Amino acid sequence: MEFIDLAAQQARLKPQIDARIAAVLGHGKYIMGPEVAELEIKLSDFCGAVHTITCANGTDALQLALMALRVGPGDAIFVPSFTFAATAEVAPPMGAVPVFVDVDPVSFNMDPDSLVRAIDHARKLGLRPAVVIPVDLFGQAADYAAISAIVKAEGLKMIGDSAQGFGAVQGERMTGTFGDITTTSFFPAKPLGCYGDGGALFTPDPDIAALLDSYRVHGKGLEKYDNVRIGINSRLDTLQAAILLEKLAVYEDEITARQKVADRYEAGLANHVMTPRVPMGDRSVWAQYTLRLPSNAARDALAAALKAADIPSVVYYPVPLHQQPAYRDFPQSPDGLETSAMLAQTVLSLPMHPYLEPNAQDHVIAVVLDALVP
Ligand SMILES: *Cc1c(COP(=O)(O)O)cnc(C)c1O
Repeated sequence: MEFIDLAAQQARLKPQIDARIAAVLGHGKYIMGPEVAELEIKLSDFCGAVHTITCANGTDALQLALMALRVGPGDAIFVPSFTFAATAEVAPPMGAVPVFVDVDPVSFNMDPDSLVRAIDHARKLGLRPAVVIPVDLFGQAADYAAISAIVKAEGLKMIGDSAQGFGAVQGERMTGTFGDITTTSFFPAKPLGCYGDGGALFTPDPDIAALLDSYRVHGKGLEKYDNVRIGINSRLDTLQAAILLEKLAVYEDEITARQKVADRYEAGLANHVMTPRVPMGDRSVWAQYTLRLPSNAARDALAAALKAADIPSVVYYPVPLHQQPAYRDFPQSPDGLETSAMLAQTVLSLPMHPYLEPNAQDHVIAVVLDALVP
């Protein structure tokens, strides 16, 4: 059994993807070829964003977003501690300071109350609160209603890190339409992944869109050798765009399939262990299906039982960022980050992908139940 079965998806899409790759080899426009522009339009259509700018990966997308928002020395960037390192990693190279915020014990996403305390704390430290980066962890949208209100009241900017959440819905809106900028990643294991590295940014602001378009190609002006600002090299390869066009065509169908897998886990497990909760009317894209166990020992015992049955499971994330050697000296929300620390000890993600067969999934459920209720 695979944790994420990319081969099953490839079997479904192989003829279309082969044809797309052949077309790129035929026209030879490997950098910024026509597939890149076509994908940007289709990504905007999919999520309802006004502008989409693709780039080389999800980490560059976050960096480009901070560049476009003109972040600099002394700026505080508020990030959850319970996330992948890339969310915080982009701040220090710009002279900015990541400030860690705790997460909610049910959604695992940024806790708005902890954010308020962190903003106040950053001011007391002499930092300038600048940008909040909520993360759509495991495919579920952050609490954008509450966080947007805080961002507005405090006069800050917001970047949604939707590397795991492209296609998620909150209220009437899809990720990609909240905040000043949304970023995503097309790393192969993400819900919408390519066959290498890739990323994108979404924004409603035409000025930000123009800046992002410039920064991703060395700060270009109207012409390629016209450098009007200091940029980076972060384009999405034409080949990756071509592959993504075919994957995007079935993405809605795959999200539906992921929801069926989530429903089957819920039906089998919810009475025995803490399963994910998605607010009524919202939609997760189920980047991960993550259980929360009552203790660290129970989590490790379940992981061991799954391993003994040859079922893959993963701990996302075993150490919260505020406890990592590279990040532990940055400021933290003053009331502590207990939930982030607790989740790192107690979560476990089960196999989740759109092609997980009911029989195989029932086996996973049986092994989990057996481990929980010996
Ligand atoms: C994967 C991921 C990123 C970075 O994306 P890459 O394309 O791997 O650079 C950023 N933030 C989160 C939350 C992620 O899961």
